[in-house]
Amino acid sequence: MIKVISVILCVFILHSIHGQSKNKDIVVAHRGAWKSNGLPENSIASLTMAINMKCAGTEFDVRMTADNVLVVNHDSDFFGLEIEKVKYEALTSFALKNGEKIPTLESYILAGVKDSHSTRLVLEIKPSEINKERGRLIAREVIQQVNHLKVDDKVDYISFDLDILLELIRINPKVSTQYLNGDRSPKELKDLSIAGLNYNYKVFYKKPEWIQQAKALQMILNVWTVNGAKDMDFFLTHDFDYITTNEPELLFNKLNKSTSTSGWKLIWSDEFNDAGLPDETKWSYDTGGHGWGNNEKQYYLAKSLENSYIRDGQLHIVALKKYHEQSKYTSAKLTTYQKLDIQYGKIEVKAKLPRGKGSWPAIWMLPGSIKTKSEPWPLCGEIDIMEHVGKDPNVVHTSLHSELYNHIKGTQITFFDTLNNLFDDFHTYGIEWDEKSIKFIFDGKLYFETYKGQDGRVATNEGWPFDKPYFLILNVAVGGNWGGEIDDNIFPNEMIVDYVRVYKRL
Ligand code: MG
Repeated sequence: MIKVISVILCVFILHSIHGQSKNKDIVVAHRGAWKSNGLPENSIASLTMAINMKCAGTEFDVRMTADNVLVVNHDSDFFGLEIEKVKYEALTSFALKNGEKIPTLESYILAGVKDSHSTRLVLEIKPSEINKERGRLIAREVIQQVNHLKVDDKVDYISFDLDILLELIRINPKVSTQYLNGDRSPKELKDLSIAGLNYNYKVFYKKPEWIQQAKALQMILNVWTVNGAKDMDFFLTHDFDYITTNEPELLFNKLNKSTSTSGWKLIWSDEFNDAGLPDETKWSYDTGGHGWGNNEKQYYLAKSLENSYIRDGQLHIVALKKYHEQSKYTSAKLTTYQKLDIQYGKIEVKAKLPRGKGSWPAIWMLPGSIKTKSEPWPLCGEIDIMEHVGKDPNVVHTSLHSELYNHIKGTQITFFDTLNNLFDDFHTYGIEWDEKSIKFIFDGKLYFETYKGQDGRVATNEGWPFDKPYFLILNVAVGGNWGGEIDDNIFPNEMIVDYVRVYKRL
């Protein structure tokens, strides 16, 4: 594809186009905010830190001694003493590493409401290791304590033991409860009057449908323990009510920057969480080695694990120097044809590009009409979200092609920019597309925008064919009319994709 600089439209506006995230009150500090200050987990110091950070909630674990004193501690033992089997007095001969005694629930709650108006107390009642009935007894003791201290409206109860939550609800149907164990559907919990799901993040990766189901049932969505940046992105994108984390600073940091999904609703995504071949429900393959109209040198293979695979949460599309039929190179071209049609919305692909002469990775779109042969190229239209050729190592191109404005005629609507760290860092490449315009977005910033009928261009299908459904394409081509001369030392040559997300306007 030949790029003709004279038609470049220099709409070059580098500014953030997004507003602020609508709700920042989602950070729940797991066992308090302890990590960055080296505080003991479940200490009053870590609780106070979470309050000072203005966390939406601070979580802690409650157990009961043999003489029915409620204390805050994660493990079932404290310095080797089984909490349920010893009297409270015995526990006081030891101290946390900052000198605090094991906190009683009473002291913890009093500290938790002292200077806090908004941080919720996310109170986990640990199941009894003695028997179920004792678990229910602990529930009764806890709710009585909370009631006595008049903090009912500040507490969310969470537990792995469903019977404990049901006992709380039996005593006071108005209490807010979240179930932790990950083995019940939203509907099952709703039927039991449990207010929310608070599951391990891996549960939601395995059963993403539970997210929508919970929202439809107007249940609270919370998730633990989300410590990685990528996992945080996932749950932010999915608009969780709360995210429970050992890294509240990181999550706050993200919330201050994470503005890109405001006003958009995620309708489709691939986070590439399952290792192996790409998900067949989301991706098909274009195959063959006929040059693809550009004299390209690769042969695209389907379901070839060395050319397209998922590992560690990322999709790898790999061009190899390996003969297949008449081609000297193999690669992969994934498409969402007949799996996902997009007409208007926001598309965001986070990727790290391959480097070297002859490499030609692309993130782009075509309509189904080219597949069904009802419209030939370029009448059908083409949206190039990102193209990169290794011979111009720091340049990222975006283009639109149509019957009247295309690269054969040198009249395509196009833009390129010089960008840094394309090969070592992930960047997001995307578009925001509506009836009137297509905006090209790089790392959340607008860098090129073009309008239907702009500069007197024809606004019918011949000039603006971008008002029909398109499918998405990810590929790494080798050589060809634009990729050019191939350096055989660049292989394996791979584009790594962290995620693909598709949104509709709210
Ligand atoms: Mg806990």
